[in-house]
Amino acid sequence: MPEPGPGEVLVRVKAALTCGTDAKIARRGHPKFPFPLTLGHEWAGVVERAGAGAAWEPGTRVTSAVSAPCGACPACAAGRENLCATAFETPLFGAFADYLLVPERIAKRGLRRVPDGMSDEAAALLDPLASVVRALKRVGSARGGDVLVTGTGPIAAMLFFLLRGKDEGIDAPGRIVVVGRRPERLAFFEANGAEVARVHSMEQALGAGALPLFTFEENPPSSPRVARPTRSGVTERAGARSFSLVVDTTGDPGVIAALPGLTADGGTVLLFAGLPEGAHVAVEAHAVHYREVSVIGSFHYTPREVDETLALLSTDALPVGGIVSARRPLAEWEAAFALAKDGTALKVALVP
Ligand SMILES: [Zn+2]
Ligand SMILES: [Zn+2]
Repeated sequence: MPEPGPGEVLVRVKAALTCGTDAKIARRGHPKFPFPLTLGHEWAGVVERAGAGAAWEPGTRVTSAVSAPCGACPACAAGRENLCATAFETPLFGAFADYLLVPERIAKRGLRRVPDGMSDEAAALLDPLASVVRALKRVGSARGGDVLVTGTGPIAAMLFFLLRGKDEGIDAPGRIVVVGRRPERLAFFEANGAEVARVHSMEQALGAGALPLFTFEENPPSSPRVARPTRSGVTERAGARSFSLVVDTTGDPGVIAALPGLTADGGTVLLFAGLPEGAHVAVEAHAVHYREVSVIGSFHYTPREVDETLALLSTDALPVGGIVSARRPLAEWEAAFALAKDGTALKVALVP
């Protein structure tokens, strides 16, 4: 059991969630987070002991952001703490364990008290959901039209549920279409009211400018959404450029390259998933200029968004049981990651 130094907080982990990021680090390592490293960064727990100067009472239920912006650099001063160059100097990993030591800087800026009545699973969603909350702020009113989400993972699911919900001053979206390969995942989206497009190969399907279930056809520019689909037929019709918002959660350059072609005039393509350093994506410049399609990104979140997300998790905006759909003892971590990988579960809560 680690001993908390000055400013540090020792937490007894109650639940930690599987995440593709952990799986990726385990598989190929990470330049910023060298081994040996205990993985696990989405968690909820209870303060066991606080080091000198850390104002946390033992027994307090807590969860946390994984970063700690400095609060003083130009990015932080501009309210873009997600871009703070030192926010990840002491990232918070190690939740796949009985006890987790929270570094001083994160104890000061990232750690949050879990509101009464919130489950451990819900509280553990703070980190991924905060990224989604920021992403939706980045797209503004583009979310008010038809929306396409590529990919069927937990991020796509959280995006879907937040998009479906109401947001002040923004129109409810028209259709929300989710495109992906995994039948179990697509069934989950469908059961929750999404329209789904099943494809065998994302790149191939999108690159050809058509999804199997959607026959895209040119619409007059003045009425980009005239061809509304009927939900009954096997083949539905939608405008080739009908989506005011397209969100990519795949991080696949081949998929991303096809997205401006699916986006409505004046619409937005949001790159949610991160690509490796040096990755390039070919974007049709004609769409960017003549049709004013914006291609933007969204990275991580700010402390403000962490607080907003915690408030959001206190509402019923997100069906937490649908996202964190299984629970396993920590010793069965390998089986838990297999469940998440094969599409049986979106996220699995590991319990020490
Ligand atoms: Zn994660
Ligand atoms: Zn900073």
